[in-house]
Amino acid sequence: MDYDVIIVGGRPAGSTLAARLGAQHLKVLLLERAAMPSLPAASSPIIYSPALKLLDEIGAPEDEYAHHTPPIRRVIGHAAGFSAVIPIPEAHGRDYAYAIDRARFDHALWTHAQRFNTVTARDNFNVTELLWDGDRVVGIVGSAGKHAPEERITARLVIGADGRFSVVARKTNAAEHDVHNENPTSLYYAYWKNVRPYDEHGPAAVAYEGGVGYGFLVMDSADGRTGITFEGQADLLNPEPGKITAFYLDLVNSNPHIRARIAEAEMVTDVHGMRRIGNLYRQPGGEGWALVGDAYHQHDPLDGQGIFNALFTAKALAQAVRSWNHGQKIWTHALADYDETTRIKTYGMYKRTLDQVRQNLYSPAQVPGWALNGIRWVMEDPAMHWLMGQMLTRQLPAEVVTLLTPGVAVGAMMRGSLRDLRKMVGF
Ligand SMILES: Cc1cc2nc3c(=O)[nH]c(=O)nc-3n(C[C@H](O)[C@H](O)[C@H](O)COP(=O)(O)OP(=O)(O)OC[C@H]3O[C@@H](n4cnc5c(N)ncnc54)[C@H](O)[C@@H]3O)c2cc1C
Repeated sequence: MDYDVIIVGGRPAGSTLAARLGAQHLKVLLLERAAMPSLPAASSPIIYSPALKLLDEIGAPEDEYAHHTPPIRRVIGHAAGFSAVIPIPEAHGRDYAYAIDRARFDHALWTHAQRFNTVTARDNFNVTELLWDGDRVVGIVGSAGKHAPEERITARLVIGADGRFSVVARKTNAAEHDVHNENPTSLYYAYWKNVRPYDEHGPAAVAYEGGVGYGFLVMDSADGRTGITFEGQADLLNPEPGKITAFYLDLVNSNPHIRARIAEAEMVTDVHGMRRIGNLYRQPGGEGWALVGDAYHQHDPLDGQGIFNALFTAKALAQAVRSWNHGQKIWTHALADYDETTRIKTYGMYKRTLDQVRQNLYSPAQVPGWALNGIRWVMEDPAMHWLMGQMLTRQLPAEVVTLLTPGVAVGAMMRGSLRDLRKMVGF
């Protein structure tokens, strides 16, 4: 075999897995179709401290992947005429998130993987086929550019870190499960310069209410740029080909808060996006192969957890490879451990995100006037902000945090009505 492991795809999942396997002194070949640095197909991300902690574990330098990127210390939600300011709680020594520049972030991780001297990385390399020995994958076929000769490279293990449209998953017929396409969403975004700050209290990620079936997110990102994104029902956000920019600008300008913030701003990138974003898990692997990151588990971007999932699945898979390589587990058992570990970590948030998509984008409640005070009390309640912050930073499992838990909501309303009463009587 030429290598211990070939990893197809060199962004968050592939590069961090290469670093973790490099730390195990395995001989790794990391292959990426795109030229690095470059942007991925679509992503306008925010990442929280649990993802940063996973990067600390492999020694990835924060001053490289978050260079010139302002720490965001609060997430703000506007709905029904009210706003909720959720401070990002301290977790793993950080009380902030980043709306990262993906080209810079991915390139920093790609470069970092190559600091491990058993890791070789090649960009501009497209994998087109797998090599088989009976039922077992034993390598890849690919080439460094259209006119370059075909190369056949062998390895004990081939790992697909090649994203949503994974060629490794396709060629191995990886089975899919927990597939949810019943409430499909689409998302569009662009980056802007000179967007007016939300207020004088520093960088923020601000969710603005949209029309029925969609909403906006405005995030302060790297180099003084601001990402403006909207996500919603796929059939509603369905611009005609060639008219995506006009569609994007119309929608962004339809929100009076955003319109005011971009009055003197300039859009400095094209509009990018993704239609009908899928939600699924795939089988984790088979004889001679495995999947990681989006190739393995795809999760609607509404809660901003995809990069955490990519980094976490890379960690869990590296542990499975270690136990297999050290002869502690046969490969099938190591894969089963990997599947179980990632399911425990990701499934609660997956369910929550799907519920949020259904509740907020597909069946938004028509709020009667008499209920508005109740909503304001809940949105302004510090205990609710604490709970949301704990959930976003994964210090509480997503499944236990729900605004609909009667005890929590009733408590928030009681505290809210008392706050109003205090204001009225002036103490
Ligand atoms: C619109 C949008 C918004 C998002 N917002 C957020 C967010 O706010 N927060 C968050 O955490 N996540 C977000 N995500 C999710 C996040 O972008 C993904 O979860 C993450 O990029 C997955 O990383 P990955 O390494 O698994 O795959 P990818 O980043 O998709 O990388 C896969 C790589 O494989 C390469 N590749 C594919 N095929 C081949 C081949 N045949 N040969 C060689 N190389 C190949 C590709 O070129 C690509 O570079 C968002 C996603 C989308 C689409």
